[in-house]
Amino acid sequence: MAARTVLLDRMYVNGEWVKAISNESFAITNPADGEHIASVPNGDKEDAILAVDAAYDAFKKWSQKTADERSHLLRRWYDNILDSKDEIAEILTLEQGKPLKEALGEVTYAASFIQWYAEEAKRVYGETIPASAVDKRLLVLKQPVGVVAAITPWNFPAAMITRKVAPALAAGCTVVIKPAEQTPLTALKLAEAAERAGFPKGVINIVTGDAQEIGDAWLKDSRVRKITFTGSTEVGKLLMRGAADNVKKVSLELGGHAPFIVFPDADIDAAVQGVMQSKFRNNGQTCVCANRVYVHSSIVDEFVRKFAEEAKKLTVGFGLEPETQVGPLIDEQAYIKVESHIHDAVSKGANIECGGRRIEDLEDGYFVEPTVLSNVTEDMRIMKEETFGPVAPVITFDDTEDVIERANNTPYGLAAYLFTTNLKTAVTVSEQLEYGIVGINDGLPAVAQAPFGGFKESGLGREGGHHGIEEFLEVKYVSIKL
Ligand code: ADP
Repeated sequence: MAARTVLLDRMYVNGEWVKAISNESFAITNPADGEHIASVPNGDKEDAILAVDAAYDAFKKWSQKTADERSHLLRRWYDNILDSKDEIAEILTLEQGKPLKEALGEVTYAASFIQWYAEEAKRVYGETIPASAVDKRLLVLKQPVGVVAAITPWNFPAAMITRKVAPALAAGCTVVIKPAEQTPLTALKLAEAAERAGFPKGVINIVTGDAQEIGDAWLKDSRVRKITFTGSTEVGKLLMRGAADNVKKVSLELGGHAPFIVFPDADIDAAVQGVMQSKFRNNGQTCVCANRVYVHSSIVDEFVRKFAEEAKKLTVGFGLEPETQVGPLIDEQAYIKVESHIHDAVSKGANIECGGRRIEDLEDGYFVEPTVLSNVTEDMRIMKEETFGPVAPVITFDDTEDVIERANNTPYGLAAYLFTTNLKTAVTVSEQLEYGIVGINDGLPAVAQAPFGGFKESGLGREGGHHGIEEFLEVKYVSIKL
């Protein structure tokens, strides 16, 4: 680790690896055992503003490069990340805790956004509109919005950055990034790969440090024209309010509370496989994880038995150990929430079909047994609040209209899943779910080429696909009188 630690104790501003102006730093620890991994600069308001200075200067030239030039650099960045994927994945596991295999999967997924937007960069098309006068020509141009601030969470330390930064750069914007305080090392490794690709200085900047100070500085700075954020609904609302003062654009990927509905005609084994992927990936710490499992009462016994059997087979442990399938929770707060959801459900009558406890012989981290609850009722906290942990509450339903209503009865609207072999059910239910993403017989729908985002309080805007680049483009209408 020594060489990497030396490299990663700086942040990346204006093409330089720098310390915080205050010269302060903060420690990054491994959530599996609490060990110190590295220290990174504790940047504040001043560092945040310097990064905007750099991004603002760089914007003039970057936005005028040809789409081909930007595409070429993005493609080199993609190649560099894949070349270093083992090293990046190892760092990701060390600071985030997820199993190495999942970390490698995330790095490849993260890189796929850069590959996709390297291609989309060349497809930012305008329009011509028929005029109503013979001596007029009406054009629509698409232009980059300007400096973009990206604030990202710890659950996908690589992918949440590339999903924002790749389309921003492809559109011709420059970026200032604040990674989550728990996981800045992966972000810095991505910046290192970008530096090797040859991006001009100031195009990509990363400031590590105090979230509120950095966030406030960027909100107040009118040169920042867009905030793109993934994280809690609470912070998302705060940023949206802050963005109002100088009417910045905002894209928000916030919390979710995904219903996972299993109809009586479903292939039960496929549904169990789907819920295993959706629930236990990243230890349940994703905003699209199934949070409520609705199973038709005619098949619930078989479903619960098979689900618990599979969940029991999962190996929980340190992410770097090859047999590990589920890592630790990110921190104590996360554990307190998970534990309280289990406790609350059990106190109101839920049965623990498997799991339900913290793993005591791994007590330096917060490891929780994958848990399946049955006999769940709608009044339990887990049915309303995002758990962000490896706990699956199974609740029954009898009627399709009723389950749709219950599934929609939440302020969230990110992902929903339904398992059925009936085409009509698949089509009509997916149309009625108030969710931005619907997986039909699919527990893992997210891919770079498709739009990801939520209805209601789950967010604004879309990431991925051709939709994702639009978030970083202004529409300019040009009227020409000949
Ligand atoms: P989580 O609960 O998943 O950690 P947060 O919304 O707290 O979600 O964090 C997501 C990102 O938002 C992180 O990078 C975090 O540092 C940042 N953040 C937290 N509070 C603020 C704030 N007041 N202003 C700007 N960014 C913030």
